[in-house]
Amino acid sequence: MTNMAGQVVSTLRRVIGPGRVGLHEPIISDHDREVVDECLRSGYVSSVGEWVGKFEDALRGYTGADFAVAMSSGTSALEIAIKAAGVQPGDEVLVPSLSFVATANAVSHTAAIPHFVDISPDTLGLDADALGEYLDRVADERESGPINKATGRRIAAVIPMHCFGHPVEMEKLLLVARKWGIPVVEDAAESLGSFRGTQHTGTFGLAGVFSFNGNKIVTTGGGGAVVTNDETVAAYARHISTTAKIAHPWEFDHDQVGHNYRMPNLNAALGWSQLQELDNSVKKKRILAQRYRDAFSNFDNLAVFDEPHGARSNYWLNTLILDEQSADLRDEILSIAHDSGIYLRPAWRLLHQLRPYENHPRAPLEVSERLQRRILNLPSSAFLVVE
Ligand SMILES: *Cc1c(COP(=O)(O)O)cnc(C)c1O
Repeated sequence: MTNMAGQVVSTLRRVIGPGRVGLHEPIISDHDREVVDECLRSGYVSSVGEWVGKFEDALRGYTGADFAVAMSSGTSALEIAIKAAGVQPGDEVLVPSLSFVATANAVSHTAAIPHFVDISPDTLGLDADALGEYLDRVADERESGPINKATGRRIAAVIPMHCFGHPVEMEKLLLVARKWGIPVVEDAAESLGSFRGTQHTGTFGLAGVFSFNGNKIVTTGGGGAVVTNDETVAAYARHISTTAKIAHPWEFDHDQVGHNYRMPNLNAALGWSQLQELDNSVKKKRILAQRYRDAFSNFDNLAVFDEPHGARSNYWLNTLILDEQSADLRDEILSIAHDSGIYLRPAWRLLHQLRPYENHPRAPLEVSERLQRRILNLPSSAFLVVE
């Protein structure tokens, strides 16, 4: 063990205490248990019941979005939002290469083609300036929207992802998207509780998507949601995710090929209860971030990633960034930490390097490639801060 890697792990221990510490685990309160039990006793555990509506209302209230439609996963919510944005089979959709694979998979599920673009070192999310310059070079304006001159395919949407909870510079991105007439769908799966200025992530574009998987800041077991201020998008999302069934007391009439993607009532009950604790969780996670920052402040070859200027992040996953010269230490730190029961994690493998996506169109990805090897995500469960 080099001294450095050992020092990182002992510094982590000072912040998180002894024992086995996972990357991100949920808090399930007594209130959560009571609400889920109430839902179970009602018998309405599946596709009918009051909790889905209550959960959607709470989500609208928290994010300020006009509409929320709860789904069975973040991935299915993203797929529906992409379709709602008018993306057609064979279109290209711009996505950051540094993301969880679901961002690209949701595009592929609509038979569109992910086109990978670079990130900004300031946000770890999509770089609007680089995107603007790139589009000026590779795209041509057409009546139906811009086309990629190299492939002849339409560029039909862009999906910024708020990485580890840190908001993308949405104002800049919206300018680029508006210039080209490209709809914006936000992958806000990780950023519930994160704002740019006073505006919640997921509410800047045509639609935004959240995930309520067990590792996210609010969980429904598994689940997701589409939020939007566009009534047509909301109505489409609701309809297509409910088997495209025409509302009728007894008839089974469906007007297109729909999905069974709606969130079950039982999951929504847990989510509704969990949302009551969201502000408290964000508060704790911001305290944890500050503790990590203080603890690592005297290391000169690594730094704790700070929320972007103008943003208030939920710090879903705290992130350590190693210097270029120290990148080789990453795996050693991972190995020593795992041996000691601290489940750190590296960044995702870049999406354009995954087998299903290695031959897809892509912009220069210098920042993604430079940073990906230097990222370590730190244990970030809210319960690591005891009040
Ligand atoms: C978690 C996550 C998703 C997908 O969410 P699921 O609910 O697991 O389908 C999508 N994108 C990103 C960036 C995520 O972190």
